[in-house]
Amino acid sequence: MAERKVALFGGTFDPIHLGHTAVAGAAAAHIGADKIIFIPAKCSPLKDSLPSASDDDRLAMIALAIADNKKFQLDDYELKKKEASYTLETVRRFQAQFGSDTSLYWLVGADSVGELQYWYRIAELIDVCNLCVMYRAGYKPPDFIRFESIWGSDCVEKLQRNVIQTPLIDISSTEIRNRLAAGLDVSDKLTPRVADYIHKHGLYQSEAEY
Ligand code: ATP
Repeated sequence: MAERKVALFGGTFDPIHLGHTAVAGAAAAHIGADKIIFIPAKCSPLKDSLPSASDDDRLAMIALAIADNKKFQLDDYELKKKEASYTLETVRRFQAQFGSDTSLYWLVGADSVGELQYWYRIAELIDVCNLCVMYRAGYKPPDFIRFESIWGSDCVEKLQRNVIQTPLIDISSTEIRNRLAAGLDVSDKLTPRVADYIHKHGLYQSEAEY
């Protein structure tokens, strides 16, 4: 049976922006993935603050942002868990769901390279899926050579092979939250439906702790 390729894209998506959807589309094309599943995190085990928007609002915004792309799907697996989920657990759950004829790809932006060494059982994660690090504006092209003494050359070669040269789109959720709190325009950074949702629900209005 032909091998199926499924890409998983985790993040806080607080809110989802045009950078997310653009790199996800480019990565899916590069991989030849049948589908790409957006998996919002309850919170990141490595971020010190909780998402600003509620789980329901983040889910709703992702649904609106991906509605026009048939390859894009949304899964609330991590949100339904009581505790923050480790990527390895999430990958194992989807591998069990799709079976062994499906290859899984986990997408992450280049801003995460420095923190990968602190991810839960990272060497195992690199082994069980294709951890694909995508280019990101403002960050160096992903390079893993410095991790060779920790993870070994096989792991590092696999990471290097899976780097995806996605388009550089200089947008972050932090910038969007800050601009909204300051009453500034963000319409060139969001799908119009997401911008409408944020406006209608009065999200990200306060200066809070960004
Ligand atoms: P924040 O500013 O709140 O940290 P963010 O914009 O980085 O948010 P996340 O939801 O944390 O968005 O990102 C989810 C994943 O998407 C991460 O792996 C991140 O590296 C990647 N990502 C986010 N924005 C971009 C972008 N513009 N280009 C490439 N990758 C991105």
